[in-house]
Amino acid sequence: MGLLDGRRALIFGVANDHSIAWGIAKALHAEGATLGLSSLESLLDRRVRPLAAQLGVEFVEPCDVADDAQIARVFDRWRERYGDLDVLVHALAFANREDLDGAFVETSREGFHRALDVSAYSLTAITRGALPLLRPGASVITLTYLGAERAVPHYNVMGVAKAALEASVRYLAADLGPAGIRVNAISAGPVRTLAASGVSGFRDMYAHFREIAPLRRNMTLADVGGAAVWLASGLSAGVTGEVVYVDGGFSILGVGLGE
Ligand code: NAP
Repeated sequence: MGLLDGRRALIFGVANDHSIAWGIAKALHAEGATLGLSSLESLLDRRVRPLAAQLGVEFVEPCDVADDAQIARVFDRWRERYGDLDVLVHALAFANREDLDGAFVETSREGFHRALDVSAYSLTAITRGALPLLRPGASVITLTYLGAERAVPHYNVMGVAKAALEASVRYLAADLGPAGIRVNAISAGPVRTLAASGVSGFRDMYAHFREIAPLRRNMTLADVGGAAVWLASGLSAGVTGEVVYVDGGFSILGVGLGE
């Protein structure tokens, strides 16, 4: 018996086997969920379909979350195939590379719009798209980072986007709570992924993290996947509008000196 037997989950954001979305997919699958994957069209054939095949996932559809028509199409296809949905996972973000280096003050208007649109507004857009399919007891999960609350070197406009994302979680949770739908974020410590490699200085930050975090190790896809299982299941039935830290305790520190 899995914790998610009989539950259906649609996961946005698998780029490759290092993606947090992939870690979540594996964890939800291991607990019995029926999965669907959605990613940018350019990633599907080479990257996503082979991974989907590993888990026997049959629903793989393209979606650029900056395009409302593509969002509507994914949920139409899901409705045709499965009818309803219990778990929606939003594990994607984008900022122009030049905005993840140098000074935040140099962020362009275009770069700001793009980062906020893809990384923050898209949660509201896909949740609205999913709404007719979400059953009472459904769970919406997104991914955030400490850079939403603290100034982290080079995270820049992505920190502002994550702050908007976390505020969106609270507003969506307040809106959808009466329908029995929960909305939460996982704030993950640094994980080596494609998106993370776009942030200048990530490698140093990653190494530094395990010297300082109370658990003295980096976070893994399994760590994040485990928290996602909890948020997707009835075990977290009373939790909504929260940011859950999966960061080895890093965010509790006032001063990080390590050993
Ligand atoms: P990832 O493997 O690179 O996944 C991010 C995915 O988002 C990529 O497939 C990316 O495609 C996709 N994406 C970008 N723009 C999109 C759009 N318009 N429509 C649909 N998909 C789009 O990186 P990840 O680290 O797992 O990121 C997943 C989430 O975790 C993000 O929200 C990230 O901010 C968050 N997070 C990551 C860390 C970390 O340390 N890795 C820590 C905390 C939170 P392209 O590759 O083509 O751009």
